[in-house]
Amino acid sequence: MTNTARRPFAIGVDVGGTKLEAIVLDPAGVEVWRERVATPQADYGAMLQAIASLVARARATIGGAAHTLGFGTPGSATPEGLMKNCNSTQINGRALQRDLEALLGQPVRLANDANCLAMSEATDGAGAGAGVVFAAILGTGVGAGIVVHGRLLTGPNALAGEWGHNPLPWAEGGDPYWRCYCGQSGCIETALSGPGLARDHAERHGGRLGAAEIAGRARAGQGDCAATIARWEHRLARALAHVINLLDPDVIVLGGGLSRIERCYTNVPALWSQWVFSGGVRDPVRTQLLPSRHGDSSGVRGAAWLWRDDTEASQPLAHI
Ligand SMILES: [Zn+2]
Repeated sequence: MTNTARRPFAIGVDVGGTKLEAIVLDPAGVEVWRERVATPQADYGAMLQAIASLVARARATIGGAAHTLGFGTPGSATPEGLMKNCNSTQINGRALQRDLEALLGQPVRLANDANCLAMSEATDGAGAGAGVVFAAILGTGVGAGIVVHGRLLTGPNALAGEWGHNPLPWAEGGDPYWRCYCGQSGCIETALSGPGLARDHAERHGGRLGAAEIAGRARAGQGDCAATIARWEHRLARALAHVINLLDPDVIVLGGGLSRIERCYTNVPALWSQWVFSGGVRDPVRTQLLPSRHGDSSGVRGAAWLWRDDTEASQPLAHI
């Protein structure tokens, strides 16, 4: 049993390019407050003030109760703490963590969207109770986060889970081998992202459909679109077999726009054992592939959970 009385409240803030969203979770993990405001554009100071005002309102809802503060951010921080690769460009080059701590008067934790998805889903989402969770965002880009026994895996390069910039494995004729913005070619992201799926469809079948339209037409039985989704599933199965061989997660959770392609949760596990290093029918792959439970809320919920590994450190770990 978990003693929730010793846990603090958890405040999470998702710092997005167009919106700032905050949430308060009570010590039992129940959402008790949520608010969303527009992100001030091109003005770092105004953005910090908007965050401070959101946090002040979140704090007001819980009186003087102890609480943790976590932030989901775009991009990542350099070893010196300076933000980089943020689509909210006013954040780039700024010491966001230090500035937030000075402004809010307490330690804060920051993580990117994929790591927040992983924390959210491993804590009380699709991967709750699992020992090792690999959570991938399949959207405009492809990234992932890893939670091991309740702890977010980080490392000296802050790269854990960035499999989107590994090459698509077990290459086949017809696979894309496109230049990636990262400087390499043939990255998993170029093949499995929404823009990648749309480009693959356009090159093979013509037209200018977006990923969501292709998925919708495939669901309605349109042949070319169904073929494009089947190619995408085949590539996703190979990319995730690579992850299973390396990490052997209990659960793989998918988030992002392409995670709404429901057929992949049946089709991809039916394919991936071709490449997983296991014993075939007598030793089936036990990893589960599941959609995220919290959907678009995983960013703000995961931000709130960023301190959970500390507050739960003395608790026994659950396993499936
Ligand atoms: Zn790349």
